[in-house]
Amino acid sequence: MENLLLWGFYLLTFYAFLPGLVSRTFGFKVFKKGRTEREIALTFDDGPDPVYTPQLLDLLARYDAKATFFVVGAHAELQPELLRRMRDEGHVIGIHNYVHKSNWLMRPSTVKKQIRRTCDIIREATGERASYYRPPWGIVNLFDFSNLGYLKIILWSSLFGDWRIRLGADRLGKRIMKKLNPGEVLLLHDCGQTWGADPDAPANMLKALEACLIEGLRRGYRFVHIEEMIALTERNKPLHTGLGKRLLVGLWMLWESAFHVLFRLKPVSGGADEPAFHYRMTTYGGPPVKLEDGVTLSKGDPIAELHFDNRMLQNVARHSSSPLGVAIHLLRVMEKALPLLASSLLADPKAENIRAVYGITMIHRGASRLGFDVVELPENWFARISRIYLRLLFRILTSNRAPRKKRSAGAGGTKNSMSPRMLLMSRERILRFASPLDFTDEECRRSVQTQELPAGGTVAESASVSSTSTVH
Ligand SMILES: [Zn+2]
Repeated sequence: MENLLLWGFYLLTFYAFLPGLVSRTFGFKVFKKGRTEREIALTFDDGPDPVYTPQLLDLLARYDAKATFFVVGAHAELQPELLRRMRDEGHVIGIHNYVHKSNWLMRPSTVKKQIRRTCDIIREATGERASYYRPPWGIVNLFDFSNLGYLKIILWSSLFGDWRIRLGADRLGKRIMKKLNPGEVLLLHDCGQTWGADPDAPANMLKALEACLIEGLRRGYRFVHIEEMIALTERNKPLHTGLGKRLLVGLWMLWESAFHVLFRLKPVSGGADEPAFHYRMTTYGGPPVKLEDGVTLSKGDPIAELHFDNRMLQNVARHSSSPLGVAIHLLRVMEKALPLLASSLLADPKAENIRAVYGITMIHRGASRLGFDVVELPENWFARISRIYLRLLFRILTSNRAPRKKRSAGAGGTKNSMSPRMLLMSRERILRFASPLDFTDEECRRSVQTQELPAGGTVAESASVSSTSTVH
């Protein structure tokens, strides 16, 4: 029963709950609304259509409006000349899968193939690599974040039901007019050939759009593609976190507490201090390992599984200015907490027969100095999911910092230099901590620095220890 609950929790967290929440609320790799003085972004999905897309391009040219086309690969394949025309006339082309199907209905590898295939079609026609992706119906799953690499997900701030012909051009025009405000990302459709759409609905869209283009220009607005909208928004970014994000962090903490209660995690408290971590009794599920002090660990052995406290992590992240800073800070926390953990284990009758303590973390620098064996995880789905989860978690925890400098390496650049590792320590060894250690700051710093730092990594990527991700 407990296992069933656990897997339910993971499935929900990894596949649906977390990505939706994170992407919509944080704009993590996702853009859906801009912050501009007088620019509006026009986006058109599902095309190109041999009849309506040329008419749309004519219309946009007449009013000097630029747009972004999220093309369906299977349609684009048949209309390479339309893709070239889009590029020549200054529009941006993005990817909308190869066939118009929801990402929740496809395996992650299928989604990846769809994206790659469409990307190739665009490159063959225009010589340019697409930078933007819009999943059909805006539905993302967690794997999209790792599948996309350099691609940025673009959602929208307003959509209008323009795929239904019975809405009529007038009503559609009124709906769009209401959203004719700077920063909006408007979603319209230049093709009615997808499931659930009416084939001739784009005729209404063209009529309604023209009225809106005229009104928009009269008000002094500019119609821009998504690239310009993003660039302008970056420039106007505020420095402080809004209420929404703070609320979400609160929600996250609540979710974590629920997990702790459900799986009976015990805090390792440091008196008046907040707990540094929690532990629970479980069995080891990884590959067999021989620890440095000769203890071997195989599947099914009883262990104590460690989970860092997220509130503590949030504090550490807030007070450190670099990945190195986080690692040093955390090493000091660990150093103080290990004796407390040792005493808790000694006092806990359930911990009597454990063979080791175990945890999974991205911050393994310096951990061996404390007496942990640092073991690489076999590269499988578990390692991949942990990696994604740990990064998302860290973004959430550090979300009320000022925006960091833009990374130069791009989304995929630092991926391989960080991977979650298992930290293991035999029971005998951890119990020796019952008398406290004493490192000097200098020793602490040295042990961290001697280990490699990920090239160009940011705090968000190189440092994160999860609470809920360590379960096998
Ligand atoms: Zn679509």
